[in-house]
Amino acid sequence: MTKDIDWGNLGFGYIKTDYRYVSNYKDGAWDNGTLTTDETVTLHESACVLQYAQTCFEGLKAYRTEDNRVVCFRPNMNAKRMSDTAKRLEMPPFPEDRFVDAVEKVVKANLDFVPPYGSGATLYIRPYLFGSNAVIGVKPATEYQFRIFTTPVGPYFKGGVKPITLRIPDFDRAAPRGTGHVKAGLNYAMSLHAIVDAHNQGYNENMYLDSATRTKVEETGGANIIFVTKDNKVVTPKSDTILPSITRRSLMYVAEHYLGLEAVEREVPVEELKEFKECALCGTAAVLSPVGKVVDHGEEILFPSGMENMGEITKKLYDTLTGIQMGRIEAPEGWLKVIA
Ligand SMILES: *Cc1c(COP(=O)(O)O)cnc(C)c1O
Repeated sequence: MTKDIDWGNLGFGYIKTDYRYVSNYKDGAWDNGTLTTDETVTLHESACVLQYAQTCFEGLKAYRTEDNRVVCFRPNMNAKRMSDTAKRLEMPPFPEDRFVDAVEKVVKANLDFVPPYGSGATLYIRPYLFGSNAVIGVKPATEYQFRIFTTPVGPYFKGGVKPITLRIPDFDRAAPRGTGHVKAGLNYAMSLHAIVDAHNQGYNENMYLDSATRTKVEETGGANIIFVTKDNKVVTPKSDTILPSITRRSLMYVAEHYLGLEAVEREVPVEELKEFKECALCGTAAVLSPVGKVVDHGEEILFPSGMENMGEITKKLYDTLTGIQMGRIEAPEGWLKVIA
């Protein structure tokens, strides 16, 4: 029985579900892992995650489809990305096949929390991995915990989609040859000041530039960016310091193979911003959220799609990808993992 929750009015906050998955790494090996009802984590005061932020995470969703199946969207991609992140942070990767299996177990155990089809709500899935034993000298932990919890989240666009405003900040997100391309908690810790400052100044998000030259567009604190050119090409910035969004990679595929549009990943100079007709942020949370305006130190760049609606191509991309996720449009081979 689906839980008695007001699905249409859920926000993006934590709601406790029944089960979460836990596996511990000790003496060079992962244990068998288990489901637990305990939502708390008890840690040593000198745990590596607390002292040196040795932690990373993933984010994906479970959806109820039109024909009432429960599916996850490309969980193997999250498994691979977490494994890449873990290696960069000197953590033992959680085996990718076990990651997908654990996602399936935890969603199955919380099936009643997967929101009904058509509500706009979804079950958000948060895998994470952290160094758990005591360290005081700077070095990687030797013991780790991998966990996955789930929480139902509301439709991202309550009361309709409204384009947002970004600013180009004086802060940087990712250093060249740093950790911008992996999903490390530390990237978020250092973005908090910039996002609070952006909000205080009346902007929705920061559009970060490459920190080496500050001439090329990269991404926001938690979402990649796509642009549409006047001749309907879909463009996304190429850089080694951008986090490889699964939503963005899926949208580029959809643009090319479902909509017949040219989709290009290439460098995007800031001066080119005024040439695009549409701009949107992409990530698991919103899929796509339209950007109406970018403010670059007082200079306003307004995209022709305006501040009222999603641009035409953005809308097609959004409808197609969400159609695939909700089972209304046939998915490419391997994109949907059927859980129930
Ligand atoms: C997670 C994340 C994204 C979005 O990735 P998805 O796989 O599409 O959810 C984009 N940028 C950053 C910095 C991220 O951490």
